[in-house]
Amino acid sequence: MKKIGKIIGLYDKYIMQTYKRVPLCIEKAKGVKLWDVDGKEYLDFFPGWAVSGIGHCHPKVVAAINKQAKKLLHVSNNYYSEPQALLAEAIIKNSYPGKVFFANSGAEANEAAVKLARKYGHDKGKFEIITMTKSFHGRTIAMITATGQDKVKIGFEPLPAGFIHVPFNDIEAVKEAVTDKTAAIMLEPIQCEGGINIATVEYMKALRALCDEKDIVLILDEVQTGMGRAGKMFAYQNYGIEPDVMTLAKALGGGLPIGAAIARGKFGGVLTPGTHASTFGGSPIVCAAALAVFEAIKKDKLLANTNKMGAYLRKKLEALKKKYHFVKEIRTVALIIGVELNIKGEDIYKECMKEGLLINCTQDTILRIMPPLNVTKAEVDKAVSILDKVFSKL
Ligand SMILES: *Cc1c(COP(=O)(O)O)cnc(C)c1O
Repeated sequence: MKKIGKIIGLYDKYIMQTYKRVPLCIEKAKGVKLWDVDGKEYLDFFPGWAVSGIGHCHPKVVAAINKQAKKLLHVSNNYYSEPQALLAEAIIKNSYPGKVFFANSGAEANEAAVKLARKYGHDKGKFEIITMTKSFHGRTIAMITATGQDKVKIGFEPLPAGFIHVPFNDIEAVKEAVTDKTAAIMLEPIQCEGGINIATVEYMKALRALCDEKDIVLILDEVQTGMGRAGKMFAYQNYGIEPDVMTLAKALGGGLPIGAAIARGKFGGVLTPGTHASTFGGSPIVCAAALAVFEAIKKDKLLANTNKMGAYLRKKLEALKKKYHFVKEIRTVALIIGVELNIKGEDIYKECMKEGLLINCTQDTILRIMPPLNVTKAEVDKAVSILDKVFSKL
């Protein structure tokens, strides 16, 4: 029997069935490639939902983890440790003057941002959080409430009060929803889970102006778009504005679990002792890994490669669009890529897997493609040729 059969048996017996899994069991990975337990090789163009943003097991990240593991893995947040300090410095130097709170996941980073906004608005009676339809903000009770998709909420009611959804990229809808109770507006600059929906520059600038005018906290969820994937270190840098709070997770840890909320200027002082905490947040081992991610992006010039390969991949996908009538639209920002189809995409992504290419399908009809930032031209060529082959059989 193939090795995977036994492992799937154990999952069926011992693990909650909360995921729609495909029959693929990964054993090891390096860069853009990974191998299953039976030795088959794959090209990973959706590495862990964008977690392995600089590729799997990046040598700088692995070295940093090894080095730190010999010294100190975890220490309580009542003490100081150097990796946490250096990582916070790196984040701030790459974004805007402010302060960082460390958590362990995207949902937790967003919880910190929402708690900050609630605390900031509290004495003025402001508590409402406006978010966007088709957004995705995580799976805690507050974050499924913030998420603008009914499917994540069903069965979990009653949900916390004070969350309102409006359509994305519609400034008039936001203006109508704002009241004197509005504490925050929270959105992803590019809705990834929602189907690669890209905020326009005018919209983002108008949101910034509205938040300034009404003393509303502007929260950008950059859990998926951050760490270079949008061609700049953070996607907001494509818009000529700064958020009041940005949240990061996924690619920040180079494969280890981390979340961070980065509050600009005065917002950095809102959460005080006793108001928020995390046992594991900012542990030395995870911060050492994340610091190595920043170093790798800089030293390996990965932002330049991201922009170059993003443009190249887009050009190649546009050629596929001309060839296949069921390709409706291609939406990209650097290496954040959505291919919208007129047909369901599930079979395509499964067929790609059989051919040795891992991608994702979201919102039924949108192929989501997010190769590591250090992807090469040859790897793009190979991935697109697999897509072409799969498309040609439809
Ligand atoms: C993945 C994701 C989250 C949730 O992150 P977790 O680490 O799974 O809690 C939140 N927001 C966005 C935009 C995401 O892509």
